[in-house]
Amino acid sequence: MNNCVSRRKLLGNAGAVAALQGWSGLFRGNLHNLDSFANAPSDSPAISERIVDMHVHFDEKNPNFISDLLRLSDRLNLTACVLTPFANRKVVLDAAKQHPTQIIPFGFVDLDAPDVVKQVEELHAMGFRGLGEMEFVKKPYNDPSYLPVYEQANRYGWIVLFHTGIVLRRKFDEPEDVASGRMRPIYLEEIARRFPKITVLGAHCGNPEYEWAAEIARWNPNVFWDLSGSTLTKMQARLNDFQKIFWWSNTEWQSPEWKVKTPGGDTSAFIKIVFGSDNGLDGIEPVVKQYHALFEACAIPEHTRKMIMGGSLSKMLGLSDGH
Ligand SMILES: [Zn+2]
Repeated sequence: MNNCVSRRKLLGNAGAVAALQGWSGLFRGNLHNLDSFANAPSDSPAISERIVDMHVHFDEKNPNFISDLLRLSDRLNLTACVLTPFANRKVVLDAAKQHPTQIIPFGFVDLDAPDVVKQVEELHAMGFRGLGEMEFVKKPYNDPSYLPVYEQANRYGWIVLFHTGIVLRRKFDEPEDVASGRMRPIYLEEIARRFPKITVLGAHCGNPEYEWAAEIARWNPNVFWDLSGSTLTKMQARLNDFQKIFWWSNTEWQSPEWKVKTPGGDTSAFIKIVFGSDNGLDGIEPVVKQYHALFEACAIPEHTRKMIMGGSLSKMLGLSDGH
């Protein structure tokens, strides 16, 4: 969602960052030069791998956004899916054409806009790769009036990023037509089933409806979640609770006739997570560290960590160094 920077600053990342200071040195300097870490023990983050961030909002208030992003991208070996308001579509598309391994253009549209289908068609014709972040909707995500947008996205085989769960309140003293209940993770199940060519990506893992989010991902090969927002801060003292929510790693829950597909056939339940920061450019690195804390707390296998941090999205987006 927009304005997450100020919200997260209010919540504060200080605790998580302090707890993870051991990693901080690894993220200074140019990571391209740190190839020796590629052979680090399996409990170390694979820092020489490309990070693909599903959740980077274009900041129209920062005139240097693109150059700031490119500098960060060089330093962290980061590819950013840039969630771009329709009005800013040209500047982001031009940058993406010049830097195709660093900037992937995603179109932010208002599902309630009367010309939203036309906007989606235009974004596709321009070369955008998907939609997001859908948010602040006037009706639940599965409302029939939104289906024409999903039909288009399905035709294009796009990734669509939806905000899920609790959403910030911008104004405290004016009425507003906003409700987190219209963006519950359960609605994404119907979209995933009706439109199997859409990769349905839910932001914030349904915060706080993590259980529904995980179960929907378990049965739907085209559903994934990011853990951006306040979740990893809220859960920092009990990150291993996620093992109860993403519970089916290496279990026999599938029968031979009802197998589901996962990227690379990965048997960890955490394969349904992708990296997303939603935190402003200066807040991406702290979220990388929060993800690594989750990996440690839940003993997530090395292969799955790589897939979460960039491998799965590299595959979905056809980036050259997918795993
Ligand atoms: Zn959001």
